[in-house]
Formats: sequence, structure tokens, C-alpha cells
Amino acid sequence: MSEEPSLHSRRTLTLRFDLPISKVREFWDSLRGGKFVTTKCARCGTVSFPPQADCPKCMGSEFGWVELGREATLVTCTQVRTMPPSFAGSDPYMIAIGEFSGGVKVLAWLEGVKREEAIPGIKLRVEARTSKEGNPFYVFVRA
Ligand SMILES: [Zn+2]
Repeated sequence: MSEEPSLHSRRTLTLRFDLPISKVREFWDSLRGGKFVTTKCARCGTVSFPPQADCPKCMGSEFGWVELGREATLVTCTQVRTMPPSFAGSDPYMIAIGEFSGGVKVLAWLEGVKREEAIPGIKLRVEARTSKEGNPFYVFVRA
């Protein structure tokens, strides 16, 4: 009896994502300069986060930029102990949702706050960071 040929091929595939950011580049440029901004639809006034080149509510593509400020209130958070592969080997870390005045909610890492201190309602401040690769990102810290 011969073994049936396998219909499966085992290969390692590398996925590469090139996300077009030209329309929302202002966000990253502002973040580098210490400002936390997002998009506001010129047609219906919806403020979106993350910044959107097309309004999720009315699909309009004209928008302006508004500052969210730096202060937010902790809505909820969780400690991540089972990491996704890209963070394998990291220490457990905290992820939080902070609400800015005006109601915009932002998901970000929460730095320097112990799990038992992360009580909904505490004041947070968003801060810019730069990754080892030189890319800007943002985190929450305690205000
Ligand atoms: Zn809109």
C-alpha cells in the first residue's frame, strides 16, 4: 500500500501589511510633538478614534483635526498574562480604556500603575513613546 500524496504544503508565510497612513499622518506628527489629536467629520461632526479618513457614521471624507487633550479617566483595564506571539517573552502588561472629555474612548497600554491601583475613575494622562524601531506610540500613565 502506498501512501496517498498529501494535498497540504507546509511553508512559513510572512505577512506584510502596508497600511496607507497619508490621510491620518497628522496624528503621528502631532504625537511626536506631544499633542494627542484625532479626526472630526466636517459633515456630521463625529469625533472618531483612532483617526479615520472616512467618517464611520456618514461616510463623509472631509475632516478636520481636534485635540483630545492629555487627560483621561480610566474606564476599565485588564492585565495581559497570555501574550500574543509578537509580545511573547514580555512581562505581563496592562491594557486600559481611558475616556477623554467629550466621550472619546481610547485603548492603550497602561504604564506604571499596579493592578490593584487601577480602579475605574482614576485620572490618566496619555504620553507619547518611541519604539526601538523608531515608531511613535502612546501609553496611559497615572496623572
Ligand atoms: Zn460624518
